Amino acid sequence: MRSLIPVSVRAGIVVTGTEVLSGRVQDRNGPWIADRLFELGVELAHLTICGDRARDIEAQLRFLAGEGVNLIVTSGGLGPTADDMTVETVARFCGRQLVLDTTLEAKIAAILRSLMPDRVDFDAVRAANRKQAMIPAGSQVIDPVGTAPGLVVPGKPTLVVLPGPPRELQPMWPTAVQTPAVQQAIAGRTIYRQETVRMFGLPESGLAETLREADKRIPGFRLLEITTCLRRGEIEMVTRYQPDAAGVYQQLIELLREKHRQHIFSEDGSRVDDQVALLLAGRRVATAESCTAGLLAARLTERPGSSAYLTGGVVAYANEAKVQLLDVDSALIEAHGAVSEPVAEAMAAGALRRFDADTAIAITGIAGPGGGTAEKPVGTVCFSVMLAGGHTLTRTVRLPGGRDDIRERSTTVAMHLLRRALSDTRETS
Ligand code: ATP
Ligand code: MG
Repeated sequence: MRSLIPVSVRAGIVVTGTEVLSGRVQDRNGPWIADRLFELGVELAHLTICGDRARDIEAQLRFLAGEGVNLIVTSGGLGPTADDMTVETVARFCGRQLVLDTTLEAKIAAILRSLMPDRVDFDAVRAANRKQAMIPAGSQVIDPVGTAPGLVVPGKPTLVVLPGPPRELQPMWPTAVQTPAVQQAIAGRTIYRQETVRMFGLPESGLAETLREADKRIPGFRLLEITTCLRRGEIEMVTRYQPDAAGVYQQLIELLREKHRQHIFSEDGSRVDDQVALLLAGRRVATAESCTAGLLAARLTERPGSSAYLTGGVVAYANEAKVQLLDVDSALIEAHGAVSEPVAEAMAAGALRRFDADTAIAITGIAGPGGGTAEKPVGTVCFSVMLAGGHTLTRTVRLPGGRDDIRERSTTVAMHLLRRALSDTRETS
């Protein structure tokens, strides 16, 4: 969808590192810097990744400068070893001499001395690290958090050069942003608002249709920059707009509520996991899992403090385990099959009793690739949420995808059923 948002200040990110390029290390700097740029109101134009090769790094810088970005942020390649060549490359690219910064050299020496055991030949180490005190003339040093200093090189574009380890890069970022060169490069930026709506059980095409309608019905709709993303069966709709388009966004929300009230579970960006955690406060929940074999219990315990409500869970994969650990009647399994709503309910009832819980959730399904039948194909999963007092919510769904998708998606469905069952009791009590 075309957007009318004027682009003011643009930036590019160059992530360097052969280990990141190959995927052995997952890039955590690009997305992190992207979020910070967004908060600043700077438009991220490109995020590129290249290996530790001077000509490749230089090619990225040339490309971004050619695109006319105001700011380039690099990550990685600031260490003392030969494969760390970002500073050299940046200096050449900017046409600046490398000069020794003696204050910086002393700082690095002091840091190294504090890290080294006495026996090490300190002079040799210090010589190797003199390299890290060589900076492009006229650049500003960002003090190291580890041993590698960062740099801000003024100009159009202005370059921010930061080390690769995220625990070093992150604390150095605010200092870099405060430098006069960066402040000048990002002057004239626009502060956007960003809102996130989450929906479950709605196909992406359904939302697309509503957005087309919004385009016709809502004046100024194109002042909103909307991105939708389907993830784990949930739709995430992120909208960016300048503050004066807040009224337009409000109209969009009203239209969404009108069309998809039952699908929207979050208008403030909160995740189903956050919501379930709140709803479980003061309760005792137990899980009984067959096809997910503990994934739901693991997901429920991702949050610190979950021990306050999760009492425990049973992985009852085999039928005997369902019978012995959860008191499921074997006749029930014979009559309906292990993947059936009656068995899911019996598993939930068993978990409720065995753990002395007030909330139980059971999952039994066919994750595949084998085991499917015409009647119950791969992806058939039965869920039952049971609350003390009798409220029960039982559902069967057909999930798409391979084994991993089905198991993972099952935990999401379970979270939504928990949310539904627990909100029902809140409304009626
Ligand atoms: P150092 O002085 O630690 O060598 P450096 O700036 O030279 O700093 P790199 O050599 O590029 O950093 O990377 C060091 C390590 O930091 C990598 O092996 C990796 O573990 C981590 N790292 C680097 N870049 C990233 C990234 N983009 N995302 C996540 N981790 C990263
Ligand atoms: Mg390095």
